[in-house]
Amino acid sequence: MNDLFISTTTFGASDKTPLNKLEQAGISYSLNPHKRKLLPEETAVLAKDSIGLIAGIEDLESLVRSSENIKLICRLGVGLENVPFDLCQEKNIKVSFTPDAVTPAIAELTISLMLAVARKLCVSDKNIRLGDWQRKLGVRIGGSTIGLIGFGRVGQMVAELLLSFKPKLVLVYDTYLNQEQVHKMEEKGLNIKPVSLDEMLKTADIVSLHVGLNDSTRNMISGQEMVIMKNDSILINTSRGGIVNEQDLYLALEKGDIGGAALDVFEEEPYNGPLTKLENVLLSPHQGSATKDCRAKMEMEAVDEVIRFIEGKPLKQEVSI
Ligand code: NAD
Repeated sequence: MNDLFISTTTFGASDKTPLNKLEQAGISYSLNPHKRKLLPEETAVLAKDSIGLIAGIEDLESLVRSSENIKLICRLGVGLENVPFDLCQEKNIKVSFTPDAVTPAIAELTISLMLAVARKLCVSDKNIRLGDWQRKLGVRIGGSTIGLIGFGRVGQMVAELLLSFKPKLVLVYDTYLNQEQVHKMEEKGLNIKPVSLDEMLKTADIVSLHVGLNDSTRNMISGQEMVIMKNDSILINTSRGGIVNEQDLYLALEKGDIGGAALDVFEEEPYNGPLTKLENVLLSPHQGSATKDCRAKMEMEAVDEVIRFIEGKPLKQEVSI
């Protein structure tokens, strides 16, 4: 039995400092032995005797239901849809996360995906390898209208990064829009406008999703939304699988309802579905947070939170249930 189970697959892989810190604090731990996303029943078995869990995106319901020992879940990252909050509350399990550490890495990935799809880089790369030297005509972010669905931490940082590209207009849609942040971006020189989802879909050249997965966002972008979008528009999803309906996306890309897409996240991961057959979609394996600095920062924040908990100190990044 260890004090802590760590389920994420690469914890301490590029930098041992977080693991060393746990050892110095006298906290025993075990790591995910399978080095892949765990099944719910595997997490339930592997973590059931631990007091703390540093968790990835695996389903935690079986563990929380069956374990009498778990008292702290620290989500390495920001999305919390895999945490059964009602059960945690019932069993007096504290939940914390590391939301800010992950923002710059996802924002940068979002911009990379926008650029890669807009300039058709993956198709060109593939063609050259096949001996086909063909210049692809693309579009620029500069001069385009960019739509951001969700204007929280990541949405705001994407807007900040977009500044230097000088887009024609940045449209934002958020159910709890932070007007102050919109004004800040205006002051910095961004041409930014809060709009309805419908208006954004009709007018944006690139639409990028930055909302969490919840009942209000599941299938938020389905066939009917893609029909409204411009035929040459690009859809980017670095948020969560399930927000964009993948079957509808396949049809929309095939029919030409939209021009291109990039997905970092999928309903079922690892993804091996029909989108792999299409050229006008770029797929990446949920690697929004996969940079050395981001992983190191998240891991240190999570370890500090575990140490605070075990030493009976107040948590710094507790999620209020
Ligand atoms: P955040 O909570 O700061 O921002 C989310 C925003 O979405 C909030 O402003 C909220 O008001 C808004 N929102 C919620 N429901 C909405 C709805 N129905 N319509 C419109 N707006 C709505 O979250 P964040 O830190 O910006 O992160 C965004 C998402 O990024 C996370 O929820 C997570 O799913 C995703 N993420 C992806 C990766 C990756 O590896 N690709 C890593 C970490 C996080």
